[in-house]
Amino acid sequence: MALVRKRMVMTDSDVADDMISALRNWVEAEVIPNASDFELPDEYPTDMALQMGDFGLFGATIPSEFGGLDLDNMTYTRVVEELSRGWMSLAGIINSHLICAKLISKFGSEEQKQRWLPLMATGELRGCFSLSEPDSGSDAAALRCRAERDGDEWVINGTKMWVTNGEKAGVVALLARVPDEDGTQAGGITCFIVEKTPGKQSGGISISRKIDKLGYRGLETVEMSYDNHRLGHDQLLGGEEGIGNGLRWALSALELGRINVAARGVGVAQAAYDAALAYAKEREAFGRPISQHQAIAFRLAEMATKLEAARLLTYEAARKADAGERVDLAAGMAKLFASETASELALDAMRIHGGNGFSTEYPVERYYRDAPLMIIGEGTSEIQKLVISRALLAED
Ligand SMILES: Cc1cc2nc3c(=O)[nH]c(=O)nc-3n(C[C@H](O)[C@H](O)[C@H](O)COP(=O)(O)OP(=O)(O)OC[C@H]3O[C@@H](n4cnc5c(N)ncnc54)[C@H](O)[C@@H]3O)c2cc1C
Repeated sequence: MALVRKRMVMTDSDVADDMISALRNWVEAEVIPNASDFELPDEYPTDMALQMGDFGLFGATIPSEFGGLDLDNMTYTRVVEELSRGWMSLAGIINSHLICAKLISKFGSEEQKQRWLPLMATGELRGCFSLSEPDSGSDAAALRCRAERDGDEWVINGTKMWVTNGEKAGVVALLARVPDEDGTQAGGITCFIVEKTPGKQSGGISISRKIDKLGYRGLETVEMSYDNHRLGHDQLLGGEEGIGNGLRWALSALELGRINVAARGVGVAQAAYDAALAYAKEREAFGRPISQHQAIAFRLAEMATKLEAARLLTYEAARKADAGERVDLAAGMAKLFASETASELALDAMRIHGGNGFSTEYPVERYYRDAPLMIIGEGTSEIQKLVISRALLAED
């Protein structure tokens, strides 16, 4: 098995603060006023994605030797929080791309890193992550997509679900099962970096449908089918040593992904709280601003407290990851709490907005539709509780 050395990266705090401040200004000026124009009709925000590229965000966590910004987890967490405060889908544009890049930089051969990472760092080549299937999500080990060796090639057959950025991607981090030599399905789950042409069809790969979603709109999440799709041995992540290690590698990349989903939760919760606070000061009922009714003031107090707790848990998980500490417990707690908090605060903000909260003229209905994804994606709340309880019980 390949020896994987832990890379410790720390972003200079002044550089991080400057970057977050520039990003915040951009979010205020370009994202917040325009998000609904793209979100409601489910239209891809091409210009915003290009501007994210100008900030270097497609290479946010890619090592600098391959042209990326090499941000530490804490800084990337703050980036995701800031984007999600404006519009959560923007974080989705880069997250699965960077999970794919993380798999390559952590487990790929030198040739594979050189081949894909510099193009991914600029956003010229877009990546996506494809683990889920129609019949396997939480139980990822039950996946059925099959990769069979044929000389120097691999032949892929199967259907993948929920592939975010799947159509725009030029590389897919695909998890597929390599049968044992006796042909049984018991063989190991393996990760391939599948090259494809962006679009609906590429070789034996087709986008079989685009999924219409409650929230997280503006970027595509698709079902992707593989019908005798052939790829070269050079697309097997990590070469021969990668066979059977795919699920373990993917789960290690998802651990960091969970901190990022927690950061999305913090961003959406912050947006909901900000909207609720401003509205409560401005809206009058019974002769005074509604913020002066104690029921509303106490709700704001609870919202602010939960928001602060979610942020602290999320930053602590990022800090631990940067210090090279084990993060399964911290990331699980952060993801569980921050995602549930985002949903609670979105509903609280809607209550405070009264009827206006139900109108598409105010952004709180979007927060209410976006927040549940954080409870589901990259491991549901129930799966986080499994991860947390297993870690706690193992410590006894
Ligand atoms: C908008 C969107 C984008 C996504 N993008 C991607 C992507 O880019 N790539 C990708 O690979 N996947 C993606 N996913 C898939 C996502 O990761 C899965 O939906 C998620 O892991 C849950 O799997 P499932 O939907 O199959 O639910 P299931 O696993 O069927 O779960 C159904 C319910 O059962 C519960 N449950 C399951 N097992 C247990 C258990 N052992 N104990 C207690 N409760 C349990 C779950 O918590 C849930 O409440 C995306 C999903 C969505 C909605």
